[in-house]
Amino acid sequence: MKNLLAQKDGELLVSRICQSESTQIDVKGCLIGGEQVMVIAGPCAVESEELLKETAFKVRAAGAAMLRGGAFKPRTSPYSFQGLGEKGLKLLARVGEDMNMPVISEIMDSEDIGLLADYADILQVGARNMQNFALLRKLGQLKKPVVLKRGMSASIEEWLLAAEYILAGGNSQVILCERGIRSSEPWTRNTLDLSAVALVKELSHLPVMVDPSHATGVRSLVSPMARAAIAAGADALMVEVHPQPEKALSDGDQSLTPRGFSTMMRELGPVARAVGRRLR
Ligand code: PEP
Ligand code: MN
Repeated sequence: MKNLLAQKDGELLVSRICQSESTQIDVKGCLIGGEQVMVIAGPCAVESEELLKETAFKVRAAGAAMLRGGAFKPRTSPYSFQGLGEKGLKLLARVGEDMNMPVISEIMDSEDIGLLADYADILQVGARNMQNFALLRKLGQLKKPVVLKRGMSASIEEWLLAAEYILAGGNSQVILCERGIRSSEPWTRNTLDLSAVALVKELSHLPVMVDPSHATGVRSLVSPMARAAIAAGADALMVEVHPQPEKALSDGDQSLTPRGFSTMMRELGPVARAVGRRLR
């Protein structure tokens, strides 16, 4: 490894040199980083109780272990739907409880950590906040798992050092999420960096998740990239699903229908088995 990571490798908490065995994170009985590949699914944003319930019911039936749903949405335009806020979090928590699915939602502002921690089982740091060091330091004091998405132009080293902020604060429950990086390619929203998945598994003991939805931005590419992610060694997948993607308030183009999700899940099983894993 280059630069900082090379010099400090042995001293860094994220490093495999510091800890050789892979970290496993138990989220209400769902183990991330073990033999089983964990699949998280749900809408980009929590929109309504009916849509969330329908989505949760269908993705769980298809094999998703956890439910996702943004309540605080980082949108490029301030005029786009910003999420339901606390109301959305409450809905997510309630539906997750009813369905017996742990839930994950994004934290945007460190002032909301207490709120998120009250309702979500995993807090997600979005790509746009990967280097929000004040937020990362506060999450270091939390006793809940954190998914740290890779910044859209972040190097692997910057990503691992961002995780180091959380670990250094005392929170060792960090899951790294590859969600595609910016490239010159206009056909896809981002470019899924699968070499990062394999490399980070070498460099670090932390579990690695892949988000093929934001990585491609294209519905038809989600399933093939999910298969590729498992083959590359991903411990978990996070996939956007919406019952009516064409009406979704955000990220409809990359959202699978429940039926598409169910087809994807059937296709993932053989790939997982081929690399010595199982789907939960
Ligand atoms: C999301 O998961 O809905 C999201 C905003 O992801 P990212 O931070 O990867 O863009
Ligand atoms: Mn989204």
